[in-house]
Amino acid sequence: MTTAEDCLFCQIVAGEIPGDVVLSTDRVVAFRDVAPVAPTHVLVVPREHASDAAATAAADTALVGDLVAAAAEVAAADGLDDYRLVFNTGAGVGQSVFHTHLHVLGGRAMTWPPG
Ligand code: C5P
Repeated sequence: MTTAEDCLFCQIVAGEIPGDVVLSTDRVVAFRDVAPVAPTHVLVVPREHASDAAATAAADTALVGDLVAAAAEVAAADGLDDYRLVFNTGAGVGQSVFHTHLHVLGGRAMTWPPG
């Protein structure tokens, strides 16, 4: 299990490793994904470490709202009316970093259901 001590996104939040930060508050940080899959691909993360969105919700329900509100700000700043928000939860659906992160994806057409 990833702990705050060995967590990549905690290190980005702390400024210990660089990230292309687009928004920062006392509760959340948003930075551009290093391997974008859409013209806008930003990750919004809580400053407080938790392994996934459900764990964040269990610890601080309002923080999930903060993530979504920040995602809307990021999308608006990028000029997006339409965008997709994704919380991958579990390795089986593609979660690879076990610090809660909300993907903000937009700027191209998308299909549904996702692969
Ligand atoms: O949902 P998932 O856990 O797969 O998403 C993790 C995301 O973190 C990936 O899109 C990956 O490109 C991104 N990432 C990043 N910077 C890193 C390592 C991973 O933006 N240093």
